[in-house]
Amino acid sequence: MTITDIECHILLVPDVRSDVTSSAQDNIVVRVLTDEGLVGIGETDVNPWVARAAIESPSTHTMGLGLKEMLVGQSLDESPEKIWEKLYTGSAMNGRRGAVICAIGALDMAMWDLRGKAAGKPCWQLLGTKAKDVIVPYASLQPNGNSFEEYRDSLVEWVLRARSLGFKAAKLEVTLTGPYNHSGLNEPDQRTTEVVEACRTAVGDDFVLMVDVQYAWSDVDRALRTLQTWKDLNLFFIETPLQIDNLKGYAQLHREAPMPIAAGEWQTTRFEFEDLMDVGQVDVAQPDIGRVGGLTEARRVCQMALERERIIVPHCWKTGIGIAASAHLASVTDHCPYIEFLPAELCDSDLRKELVVDELEMINGEIPLPQKPGLGIELNEEALVRFRVD
Ligand SMILES: [Mg+2]
Repeated sequence: MTITDIECHILLVPDVRSDVTSSAQDNIVVRVLTDEGLVGIGETDVNPWVARAAIESPSTHTMGLGLKEMLVGQSLDESPEKIWEKLYTGSAMNGRRGAVICAIGALDMAMWDLRGKAAGKPCWQLLGTKAKDVIVPYASLQPNGNSFEEYRDSLVEWVLRARSLGFKAAKLEVTLTGPYNHSGLNEPDQRTTEVVEACRTAVGDDFVLMVDVQYAWSDVDRALRTLQTWKDLNLFFIETPLQIDNLKGYAQLHREAPMPIAAGEWQTTRFEFEDLMDVGQVDVAQPDIGRVGGLTEARRVCQMALERERIIVPHCWKTGIGIAASAHLASVTDHCPYIEFLPAELCDSDLRKELVVDELEMINGEIPLPQKPGLGIELNEEALVRFRVD
């Protein structure tokens, strides 16, 4: 099977607001076409115009090649790793990290979809050995509100709704300070503690809770002053407490904070995860399948985490495409206890709700292993046209 063409679809929700943080407002969906008529689907979490430029730019020299030009004519009989290295090396002076790797990730995801469809098997059966019978999603919850009380109460309400929808775990996005704070509020750190305590009190002690403060704290001492007071809140992890370039600070938190430290949503390539785990000492590695470079690269990150006795909890803030990719990875990864899941019912993005027609289904808080060929999902063609802006 040979690749004949690549389509890029840039999608936006109609009410897109660049002053709010949710990246579920945009998407780039790639479709990889083949001479056998099969079509592979992928997506990635980066500004879609930047990713499209990495794919569609014409080649100018041997280390500045366009991804599409490298892939058209490529046989999918070649190993995923060989194709990945070809794209990585050929685009070296355009990328090596960042948006170009995110673009490779969308294409790699689509090629895995094709391999599965061609074999008549779900991707996970090609990715590795079955590691579990069900996948456990956690609900990612981002509160709203124009006052501190509204913000706190909306998160309490959402975590209770997540539990009533069957979720066994939820992550609280509590961002009242720092670069990701878009609430208009700017609260002292004690207020962050009040929100987390209110949610823990509401759901009781048996429900699994994680907290994401989205790079809120400027330094280790400030982070520890708050985190040490959370010792008895029974948190599964704290996500991105510090600016991500402060890997030595992450290592100190790994040693001194009373809960596991999670990070990785921004990291691209296994090389950045090596730094994150070896220098930053993070306990929970969170590759986003599209951003890290696709399933080929995510699988290598899982192996690296296994060798270092860390766990994997993939990041995903996009649509049913990325959720499916996370689910296939989790199916063959024993040390992946949860995948991130933006519940359509508890999310503002119409793109998240409508782009994929036959999403993986959650039953009693668990997703059975995918059974359809490839990623096992189909696009809503009408929604693809409706959300398309370029
Ligand atoms: Mg996060």
